[in-house]
Amino acid sequence: MVKGIVRRVIPGRLLAEHEYLLRRVLAILYRGNRHRCNICGYGLRAFIEINDEDRLCPRCGSSSRARRLYMILENEVNSEERILHFSPSGAIRRAYELRSDIEYTTTDYAGEFTADKCIDITDIDESENVYDKIICYHVLEHIEEDKNAIMELFRILKPGGSCFVQTPFSEEMYEDQSITAPEDRLINFGQEDHVRVYSVEGLKSRLTEQGFRVEVLVMNGDIDEYYGLYPGEYVLKAHKPR
Ligand SMILES: [Zn+2]
Repeated sequence: MVKGIVRRVIPGRLLAEHEYLLRRVLAILYRGNRHRCNICGYGLRAFIEINDEDRLCPRCGSSSRARRLYMILENEVNSEERILHFSPSGAIRRAYELRSDIEYTTTDYAGEFTADKCIDITDIDESENVYDKIICYHVLEHIEEDKNAIMELFRILKPGGSCFVQTPFSEEMYEDQSITAPEDRLINFGQEDHVRVYSVEGLKSRLTEQGFRVEVLVMNGDIDEYYGLYPGEYVLKAHKPR
């Protein structure tokens, strides 16, 4: 929500460029040993508290969910793999772009994120069986034809590959394609450019319908103070069978 408000005031690209420089200065003020960002490796005396489920790293700008995702991917991404990342977190993008052992491609459709390619997720201009891993975080809730998008993700993923998917989740899945006005979408779906609200089970079944085998990763336990991670997160690991 905070990002949404900021983005309405400042264009995403401009914000991204200046945020990075500002954060390098800001990071000096936050330098310490009580916490650590697992993406940029910086030692911190504190994270920047955004709300009751998000803390930013002042150095790389990573959110709690980006650090969680990066932690999950540490055990998943192998050398020589081809990875496609939709609407990438800047912190993860910068970290992966430094790795010479993987082939990492970023994509964005709306021009909000710095990325290598502009891809329409419902009609992807790629051959089938290309990528070992796909990261599709907070994208599908913006896509009216999400079944086409999921079909495309399945098609371009190599057999044996995995797609990591997350959206905002609610107890009940809710969509109504007659709701199109931004103010109505805000009320019904939680954001002006969201077209539905998924439940974990609802998204899982949509992924399963297109052939994925889905593992729901549930983040339980206490707040991880050291890395600034919150419990209660769900990540869907959608596996394409060999
Ligand atoms: Zn960081």
